[in-house]
This record gives sequence, structure tokens and C-alpha cells, in this order.
Amino acid sequence: MNPPQLFFLFLLGLALGSFLNVVIYRLPRGLSLATPGSFCPHCGHRLRWYENLPLLSYLLQKGRCRSCGGIISWRYPLVELTSGLLILFTFERFGWPAGAIFYLFSLLLLAATFIDLEHRIIPDEITLGGLLLGLALSPWNPLVTPFRALVGALCGAGAFYLLGEFYAWLRGREGLGGGDHKLLALIGAFLGPWRLFPVVFLAAASGLGAALFLFLLGRRRLSGGSALPFGPFLALGALATLFLPRGALFFLFPTVY
Ligand SMILES: [Zn+2]
Repeated sequence: MNPPQLFFLFLLGLALGSFLNVVIYRLPRGLSLATPGSFCPHCGHRLRWYENLPLLSYLLQKGRCRSCGGIISWRYPLVELTSGLLILFTFERFGWPAGAIFYLFSLLLLAATFIDLEHRIIPDEITLGGLLLGLALSPWNPLVTPFRALVGALCGAGAFYLLGEFYAWLRGREGLGGGDHKLLALIGAFLGPWRLFPVVFLAAASGLGAALFLFLLGRRRLSGGSALPFGPFLALGALATLFLPRGALFFLFPTVY
């Protein structure tokens, strides 16, 4: 793609990231995605078009609401920028139409990540809705066949269910989040059954790394009440599995490729 095309693709990614912020804020709160228009969560001030420009408005207003001065979460520009970069990466790597499929997949992972971080749940609209989307798009997905997408979804849900049961039996309590097995089913529908191995491995490794890091910072206990949500690490593992060069994954997981 030439530079003007990349630029317009990036702008599209920013705009869709801006919509994703609406999803991340409203979906877990049970609010309508369509109406009303964007508003400040502090004072309810309805945003004008120039207060609602991805990245730019945040920078121009120095991260504050123009009406009440309330702080706008850093999540808004972060989600917009990440969405803008992901659309470039997916289209560069996979072309059309696979790039569009994996960009959609990465948006679902992005929404799951930030909703899980804030609310410790992942809504069914994201996981089950995304799972159905993954199955519906599987004929055009170069990583799976429709049959493999279905097997991937079943393996994702089943593997995590067994893992959760084992953990609960071992510790005598519910430990793994309820939404996580549905998230892994969604990932399996897009990536197929074999890639679930690197996804879970990378998620566990990065989750353990983050838990150790927070423990060393003295922020959280290693075990106990304030466990980290696992959803964001599953999303990270899925994105890494999607984007890591084949050689790197083949070295660790020869069965996958
Ligand atoms: Zn405000």
C-alpha cells in the first residue's frame, strides 16, 4: 500500500477505535451504544464534534473535559492509537480480506481486555458474539476452515473449563474468571485448535511475569483476593500468536505450523 492509503487506513482505525471506546464504556454498564451521543462521564456534557476527534481532542484539551475540567481516562487515546496501529499491522500482514477479519478479531480482544481490567467480566456480546462472527467469517479466514474454526471454539471452551474445574478442585474455590473460557472459545474460532497452545502458553507466561512484577513493586500479593484478570493476557497471547513470525512459534510449538 502507498503512503496516502496507509494514512487513510490509519484514520479509519482511529475512528473505529473511538467507537470501541464507546463499546468499552457502555456495554458493561448496560447503556445503549447508539444513543445518546458521546458525553463526559463526569458532568454529562454532550461532546461537540471537535471535542470528539480521536487522539487530537485528548491532546488539545490536555486530557481534560472542556466543560468541567474532569480528567479523561488515558484509556481513550490508548485504545484509539492501538486500533489505528492494529489496522495497519493486520492489513500489511494479511492483505484483503484476511486483514479485515484479523483486525475485527483484534478489536474484540481490545474490548475484552479493557472491560476485563475495569469490571473483571467480559460481556457475552463480545465473547459469544465474536465467536459467532469468527465462525461466520471462517470461509475467508486463511488460518482455519469452517470445521477447524468450530473445533477451535469447542477446544478453547473445553480446555479452559477443565482447567477451571481442576483449579477449583485444587484450591477449593472458584479461581478462573467465568468469561475467560468463552474468550478462549472466541480465540479458537479465529485461530483454530492448534494455535491455542501458544496462546495459553504466552498468556500464562506473560500473566506470571506481570504478577511477579506487581509483587516486586509491592502492589499486590502473589496469591489471594486481588488476582489479576486473565482475559487481557489471553488477548495478548492471541495477538502475539497472530503476529509472531512463523519461525519463532515453530521453534516452541512445532505442531502448530
Ligand atoms: Zn465534564
